[in-house]
Amino acid sequence: MLEVQNLSAWYGAAQALFGVSLRVGAGEMVVLEGLNGAGKSTLLQSVIGLGPRTQGQVLFQGTPIESWPAHRRAQLGLGYVPEDRRLFADLSVLDNLRVAARVATPKDGQVPITVAQRQEQVLELFPALRAMLKRRAAEMSGGEQQMLSIARTLMTAPSLLLLDEPCEGIAPLLVESIRDALLALRKQGLALLIAEQNALLADHADRVITLVAGQLSEPVA
Ligand code: ATP
Repeated sequence: MLEVQNLSAWYGAAQALFGVSLRVGAGEMVVLEGLNGAGKSTLLQSVIGLGPRTQGQVLFQGTPIESWPAHRRAQLGLGYVPEDRRLFADLSVLDNLRVAARVATPKDGQVPITVAQRQEQVLELFPALRAMLKRRAAEMSGGEQQMLSIARTLMTAPSLLLLDEPCEGIAPLLVESIRDALLALRKQGLALLIAEQNALLADHADRVITLVAGQLSEPVA
């Protein structure tokens, strides 16, 4: 599904990634670990096309996309949940979901899903959001905002979800809700690449990979 080959990235003259290669298969959940500054955000941003200057290849479903702008990558099925969430603070929960809604092109023989049906699926994953559809995003807790940020990205009907530290700074109970939603999404066939330090996600990952100073470190046996 996603294949990153020999990816390097630079902020001006400062190199942040050094020849990183990884793959995420269909329906796989891969957790990307690493200390602050190791390059996790840079890697995710480079995959979605919002990062700094890069060299190397990014293939999504076999198509090289490294020179594509972010919106084209999103149209192809990449969803990105940034660390800072980037919600529309003055819009309600419902409007945050609706502005992102996109009707995906159905695969051969499949009936297209309407926006209302997709919204229903997303709210089933995050029941807490259903109870606050009219609330402004600015009036939600950090964990609720994180759920909304994930839910909003799901409204774009991605087939691979990139998440940047979804559990950071969030109350344990909501971390569990987020974990359960992500596991349910994997069960539904969504592929996930998650930058995360919280072991609650790594414990369930198909693979855990570790970045150290911009390079992948070999897994400890
Ligand atoms: P964190 O968990 O703190 O976000 P991270 O693993 O996601 O850490 P990155 O944010 O990708 O790491 O940072 C990787 C390297 O790139 C660091 O040395 C960082 O200082 C540098 N860097 C990140 N963003 C920029 C930027 N906008 N301009 C210059 N250097 C940057």
